[in-house]
Amino acid sequence: MHQFTKTLVTTALPYANGPVHLGHLAGVYLPADLYVRYKRLKGEDIIHIGGSDEHGVPITITAEKEGISPQDVVDRYHRMNHESFLKCGISFDYYGRTTSEAHHKTAQEFFTDIEQKGIFIRKSDKLFFDRKADRFLSDRYVTGTCPICNNAEANGDQCEQCGTHLSPLELINPKSKLSDGTPELRETMHWYFPLGRFQEKLENYVSQHEEDWRQNVVNYSRTWLKQGLKDRAITRDLGWGIKVPVESGEAAGKVLYVWFDAVLGYISFTREWAAEQGQSERWKEYWQNPQCRLVHFIGKDNVVFHTLMFPAILMAWNEGRQSGCYNLADNVPASEFMNFEGRKFSKSRNYAVYLGEFLEKFPADTLRYSIAMNYPENKDTDFSWQDFQNRTNGELADTLGNFIKRSVDFTNSRFEGEVPYACTPEEWSALGINWPETLEQLDLAYEGFHFREAATLGMDIARAANRFFTISEPWKVVKLDREAAAKTMALSLNLCHALSVALFPVIPETCNRIHAMLGFDGRIEELVRPGKSLLAELLSPGLNKGHKICPKSEILFSKIEESDIAPELAKIEGLLAEAVKREAGAEQNRMEFKPVISFDDFLKVDLRVAKVIAAETVKKATKLLKLQLQVGSVTKQVLAGIAKHYTPEEMIGKNVIIVANLADRSIRDDVSEGMILAVEGSDGKLFVIEPEGNEINGRQIQ
Ligand SMILES: [Zn+2]
Repeated sequence: MHQFTKTLVTTALPYANGPVHLGHLAGVYLPADLYVRYKRLKGEDIIHIGGSDEHGVPITITAEKEGISPQDVVDRYHRMNHESFLKCGISFDYYGRTTSEAHHKTAQEFFTDIEQKGIFIRKSDKLFFDRKADRFLSDRYVTGTCPICNNAEANGDQCEQCGTHLSPLELINPKSKLSDGTPELRETMHWYFPLGRFQEKLENYVSQHEEDWRQNVVNYSRTWLKQGLKDRAITRDLGWGIKVPVESGEAAGKVLYVWFDAVLGYISFTREWAAEQGQSERWKEYWQNPQCRLVHFIGKDNVVFHTLMFPAILMAWNEGRQSGCYNLADNVPASEFMNFEGRKFSKSRNYAVYLGEFLEKFPADTLRYSIAMNYPENKDTDFSWQDFQNRTNGELADTLGNFIKRSVDFTNSRFEGEVPYACTPEEWSALGINWPETLEQLDLAYEGFHFREAATLGMDIARAANRFFTISEPWKVVKLDREAAAKTMALSLNLCHALSVALFPVIPETCNRIHAMLGFDGRIEELVRPGKSLLAELLSPGLNKGHKICPKSEILFSKIEESDIAPELAKIEGLLAEAVKREAGAEQNRMEFKPVISFDDFLKVDLRVAKVIAAETVKKATKLLKLQLQVGSVTKQVLAGIAKHYTPEEMIGKNVIIVANLADRSIRDDVSEGMILAVEGSDGKLFVIEPEGNEINGRQIQ
């Protein structure tokens, strides 16, 4: 194994276009914080770098929707998310923004270096262009009718109703979201990153980590590698983002694609952090030092960006360099998803609990503990209010909180607020807790990214401590044998101290409160010294006889009452009902078919192209148009229910498709000699199907 002397942790940059929710916290930010805090306790040199991803199309769409600038949008969500993280105790060393000048410089530096090496490829493609807005339209700026489910408001990248991934070119009646007009196709040139050029190197890189990376991370990466890596566009036609640093006119109006720009944020923010420390070159000790371990915490939807694309960018930079080479990630602990009350979190459907909202109602540590115990390491897990209530009341309040309070209160009432006895190492190891083994297990759990085990080990110490206190019955024993009770209390206070260290990564605020109740000034964070492990203190009793504790105790955790979570449960019920309704609607649109007919039955239907030669409205039948159709040498009269959607003038001259062998039907004292084909959009508008090209009327449709 490689010996590392430093660690650099990065967390996926949350998109500054909305608030972060509990799913994000569970998958990325909390596990990273647990890891970082644990390693700091061990006295290791580690920094945690994060920040906001502030470029990309959804941000400009939000800005246009709200009539504000993209900068306003990212200012709002950057501040909101950063505040929520701080309130939740996520201990970033630096939390940057991709709109910073320094980041623009870094990203442009990378682009220029790789461009000068001739690695990028240029390709032209046809894209929708909005002439009124004088802009190319990215996928999300095009809307139209979904070819699969007829949803009239499908996006250019995906139909929200049926979930189908689309390209804007597949939409029926594409419209620009900017002007509502019909966009036209225009040629545009873009820079592409040839991922395939690094195929072999990336295969080797992934193979090297087959043993130490999580199975899902290896699998996702392998799937991509097997398909063969393709060129990926790294520029877009957009006004918001990092300008493509090329002097010639061909870069006009183009910015770097977010996937290329955002991952480089990790580097920019480390540089900004170093500058803030007054040691502007110090970032190199983390990025360009083979003794530094790079770890990316991400969700499973981001795996290939961190195991293939970002490494490929760094490989391109490193190519031909003797010094100033960047490290590739040593590990990418990607989480599975944490669901919420049995369903996926969904920002777009507002099915979520947002971090900021949550922390207005409940303390951060209760959330941190609950989520650590539900960490989605190898499979999706679930956050439920019931589980949250049970863990807070049963484990945090009744087990941990109760033990600490009893220990402090009893020492204050019976032993003048002093540790009344000098515990020996033998007594310490006779408590039923094997300290060396516990520490080893804690280390394996944290270093292996097994955060549920880590939190469980901490709570196991609390359970053992609570049991010890209860069995020892100091409140009875003190009346008969004061020395024995003194020993119990000294051991209990030492257990309180051990818990404040062992549980610190999971519930840091609570541990600082325990620390204060034990009579210490300052915070646990301030005791951390490079090369000195606070965890080693657990191997022997840490409090001396005579040590003064705080004369007052406090309740560490208030119980969560039914009435506290009832409104939350009611809210979910509403959200679930909405989701079910929406899904049922989508299902129906997609799935409901008429009974099966035989192929022979189908062949009986004679479909023909027909030309509308005359059209008129029908008196007292506001829905009907009377059409005269030329079908080859025959004229047919058809009454069609399309008057609300087409005027007679619009119909004249159109080529349509008719069922030519339908039995005559009399409608409103008139006769209809066929039927024309039309489709209904989800808003009820009918579209007559028009065969393209110069159709010859009368021709049979195969
Ligand atoms: Zn659809």
